[in-house]
Amino acid sequence: MTVHPRGGHEKIHNDLGQIRCIKPICCCTWKCLKEIVPTLVKISQYKPDIQTLCPHCNAKNETLEHLLVTCTYSSSIWLQINVNVFNIQAQHTSVTEWIISWFIPVQNINSEEINNWLITLMSTAWQIWKNKCDKIFRNKTPNRWNTISDIKWLIKQSTTDFHQDKQCLSKQSSWSPPLHAQLKINLDASFDNETNFFGIDLIARDSTVTSRGIRGRYFNGGLDLEQTECLAIKEALVWAKEMQYGSLLLESDCQNVVTSINDAIPHVHWMNRGIVNETKQHLSTRIGTTINYVRRSDNKIAHIIANRARIIGASFDILDDIPLI
Ligand SMILES: [Zn+2]
Repeated sequence: MTVHPRGGHEKIHNDLGQIRCIKPICCCTWKCLKEIVPTLVKISQYKPDIQTLCPHCNAKNETLEHLLVTCTYSSSIWLQINVNVFNIQAQHTSVTEWIISWFIPVQNINSEEINNWLITLMSTAWQIWKNKCDKIFRNKTPNRWNTISDIKWLIKQSTTDFHQDKQCLSKQSSWSPPLHAQLKINLDASFDNETNFFGIDLIARDSTVTSRGIRGRYFNGGLDLEQTECLAIKEALVWAKEMQYGSLLLESDCQNVVTSINDAIPHVHWMNRGIVNETKQHLSTRIGTTINYVRRSDNKIAHIIANRARIIGASFDILDDIPLI
């Protein structure tokens, strides 16, 4: 395999900036590429008394190659994701060479397929790294089923975002006002994966497109974007109760959460099923309240204000009628 260290790395850096996936996953890929992941062997260069045996297999020293490719634990995870790492081992391909190969363009494959494949590889590498950290710092032995489930969920989230972004870019907003005597609340959440801070935004409008208020909420300690979208719905129900509107239509652009609330089968991560069930229960007691999925392009204002609440780090209520574009 031919490796172009400088140009290759710069191009990959740019490509990583374009990929729609959470920052820690991109950072992990970059650190693996640059071989700056703090593996136990690397740490032992500065702290010679440290134990360097791999915490998963206890058979080999934890180098980057072992952690990511040759460890029996890592290989088993890759195989479950349909990535045959035994070829990488047989060809003695270094981790850097392997990661560079992820970004080499392949002819006759469209951008969505390339994006999905990259997300799969990057999410798996990140999850393997996370498992090792859990084992060392929390003494938590990884459960393969949960790990595979987490990887598949990450892939689903990132690929759905990619699809929705494409839709959003190609379509104009077609938001429509609610029916007479009905209140429509568009809601959204914005989550920072690095700090776990998140913002929630609700905009209430009536059939005359008059704003009945905007509520921004700022919190710390979110689990993930999906959980914060669930919390936005919960907040909308509390707010609607305060406003005493009989007929209520909620609109969210988080398709898997909305589908989970309206369907018998859950489509959310197992960690968020409790809050979805709680919302379903709440909705079943509120006659005249429905929740629909809308495209991101039809939920733009909620999205912008949720981001604002998170970035300024403040909660607010605006009850005046304000013009909404
Ligand atoms: Zn190992």
